[in-house]
Amino acid sequence: MALPSFPIEPTMPITTGRTYLAIPGPSVSPERVLNAMHRSAPNIYEGEIVDMVGTLIPDLRRVAMTRQHVAIYIANGHGAWEAANCNMFSRGDRALLAATGRFGHGWAEGLQRLGVKVDIIDFGKSSPADPQRIADALRADVAREIRAVQVTHVDTASSARNDLAAIRAAIDSTGHPALLAVDAIASLGCDELRMDEWGIDVLVGASQKGLMLPPGLGFIWFSDKALEASRRADLVTPYWDWKPRGTGTEFWQYFGGTAPTHHLYGLREALTMMLDEEGLPQVWARHHRLAKAVWATFDAWSKDTGIALNVADPASRGWSVTAARIPDGGAGALRRWLEAEAGVTLGIGLGMALSTEPAYQDFLRVGHMGHVNAHMTLGVLATMEAGMQALGIEHGPGALEAAAGALVG
Ligand SMILES: *Cc1c(COP(=O)(O)O)cnc(C)c1O
Repeated sequence: MALPSFPIEPTMPITTGRTYLAIPGPSVSPERVLNAMHRSAPNIYEGEIVDMVGTLIPDLRRVAMTRQHVAIYIANGHGAWEAANCNMFSRGDRALLAATGRFGHGWAEGLQRLGVKVDIIDFGKSSPADPQRIADALRADVAREIRAVQVTHVDTASSARNDLAAIRAAIDSTGHPALLAVDAIASLGCDELRMDEWGIDVLVGASQKGLMLPPGLGFIWFSDKALEASRRADLVTPYWDWKPRGTGTEFWQYFGGTAPTHHLYGLREALTMMLDEEGLPQVWARHHRLAKAVWATFDAWSKDTGIALNVADPASRGWSVTAARIPDGGAGALRRWLEAEAGVTLGIGLGMALSTEPAYQDFLRVGHMGHVNAHMTLGVLATMEAGMQALGIEHGPGALEAAAGALVG
């Protein structure tokens, strides 16, 4: 019997193999984390899980560099946002929100819908917050009505990173008693972050970014000062109250009901990998190095073309996500090519243009957060280069050499 003949075409897709979701969350979960979750549910009342959660709490403090309180929620980042808001405010209170991208505005919208008056200082879509303007706004609040200054550490839409220590210093320079509340959902476990040293009162995180878990857990770390403030907040509801979760003595109080059993096993494994094996400073350094490879690549591509990184100053760029522009619809075409032809999914541009506007197709984001190493990041960049060639997108030369050079340092 004659074997069928298979014509081999140069255009055949090259997608078979492990796909890579290179978006800013959910990030890639390590096999070890997934395997730790792959088990039968334990007894949720006593024994192993209770002991294991006892080891999680100190490690959650370590990952945020704090000695203060932590509350775990079965929620995504939006849930953790709302929990933080409920614990800080009463209806009619005022907040000052320094927005550096779509996520800052999203947090503000959630606050407004709870009945909190929000003064927004909009720092645009590609710059960090200016601490001086925050200080000016606090000085103007002579009646000391503002309860909290709220800011994203890294705004995942713009990839702009704020200098939290400088913002703390600016607040202190005014003598204003406002809390400093930080959305660190995109930066926790990626960018250098020191809650106590930087005087952060409320820190919000989620499981599916630097912590390398599937979506489903939200975290709030809060200071003694924030705990005091929460005692007068009338927006707090029984479920979102951080007091039993963060300062309770009974196991069931931590979760307001059934524990998120499997996520907790995954979290245990992830924290062991990050804190005890790799080490937090090395986790930060790895993200910084990979980010520099991404930036060097875009710098080369941008030479004499319309390609541009969103944030001009490297010191103000997040280490876990990079937002960029590839004009004339290039970003959208490239995203589609990578997904259809190469098994790589890049992030959409968020908050840069309306999804109905043609300019929407000019923006994309590359996620490099969590369980990522050199070959994953270089693989994405090289595949983007291939996509640009395939699509005829104009790009400067030498990008991959530049990426390699940035990695080697
Ligand atoms: C991902 C993210 C959020 C939203 O988290 P969800 O889990 O999608 O609700 C909020 N803020 C920042 C900075 C983020 O990166």
